[in-house]
Amino acid sequence: MKQNLAFESLLIHAPKTTDSLTGAVNRPIYQTSTFKQSALGEHLGYEYSRTKNPTREGVESLVAALEGAKFGFAFASGMAGIATTLALFKSGDEIIILGNVYGGTFRILDKVFSHFNITYRIFEDDDISKLEDFIGQKTKAVFYETPANPLLNVVSIEQISNIAKKKGVLSIIDNTFMSPYLQNPLKFGADIVVHSATKYLGGHSDLVAGVVVCDDENLGERLGFLQNSIGAVLAPNDSFLLIRGIKTLALRMQRHSENTLFLADFLSSHKAIEKVYYPGLKSNKYYTLQNKQAKSGGGMLSFTLKKGYDYKIFFKSTSIITLAESLGGVESLICHPASMTHASIPREIRLKMGIEDELIRLSVGIEDKGDLRDDLDEALQRARL
Ligand code: PLP
Repeated sequence: MKQNLAFESLLIHAPKTTDSLTGAVNRPIYQTSTFKQSALGEHLGYEYSRTKNPTREGVESLVAALEGAKFGFAFASGMAGIATTLALFKSGDEIIILGNVYGGTFRILDKVFSHFNITYRIFEDDDISKLEDFIGQKTKAVFYETPANPLLNVVSIEQISNIAKKKGVLSIIDNTFMSPYLQNPLKFGADIVVHSATKYLGGHSDLVAGVVVCDDENLGERLGFLQNSIGAVLAPNDSFLLIRGIKTLALRMQRHSENTLFLADFLSSHKAIEKVYYPGLKSNKYYTLQNKQAKSGGGMLSFTLKKGYDYKIFFKSTSIITLAESLGGVESLICHPASMTHASIPREIRLKMGIEDELIRLSVGIEDKGDLRDDLDEALQRARL
């Protein structure tokens, strides 16, 4: 096969996504916990499905190829992947989290890993160069998202990677909001990339999954050891669904991006709207940086309503846009970060992060953009007090 396939071809033809045994063009669901050994220690490379399963192996090699990584690991959820990654650290270590991270990531550091004396500090400064001095003796990693949930703040992956390398700490990035189609952090020097594959990678809101990739041999070995030791692995059925979802990633991301830019433009000039957060808008302060490190502004936007409009009524008033947790599926979903995705963050910390009670987050689907615009417009009219 030709080396260096384009991304769109890799989605369909990455190694190990077909079946060499039968010629099946889809990786079969190897629904088995164990594998026959012909003699002691003699087997076909598979012993027990927690350690290695051919269907999971298919999705793991696919996501590694998409992120330009040597190693890929698939987990039962994004949080399972994040928890396993954080298990790289030991008592006395400190993780720095940048600005806004997903509420569940904050919660597991604040309420779970703290019990093992793995602590965290939040770096809040807009000036990333100050991160260098913020990194302390105990710091072992910087964990961040860009664009960050839900205000879509963008930071330079290259700058953070360089600072982390200089200080000898790992940089770990949650690339869920971009997907490997829009942004490949390893190219900019990140050490570990995590995804909630529940979102754009799966793409159809029909599974919960997580992936972690890295390029470094030593890290790959340690993550593989932890994946097998902790055992929060993705099941064969869900691995199959994830491979199937990923095949259309490029097409979906193009459409998500196009629809989101269209709606961001529409909302920006709407009389009911106070503020729109979308790094794909030319007027957004992160536009240049976002376009330097990603192919588009992505499929997520957030906004607030002007005085005289009630966000609670707005949430009840959309018809095809569905009020629900999650994002990244083919259908448009709307959510209230303060009471949903970021409810696990105490209010005062949340407000300091700029996540107001009134903030509305929209995951723009791949429906007709005119229908989405009309749905928003009608709901905004109903929300008028
Ligand atoms: N990271 C981000 C940015 C998320 O939005 C989420 C879930 O919403 C997660 C991680 C956690 O993933 P999961 O829900 O698959 O455990």
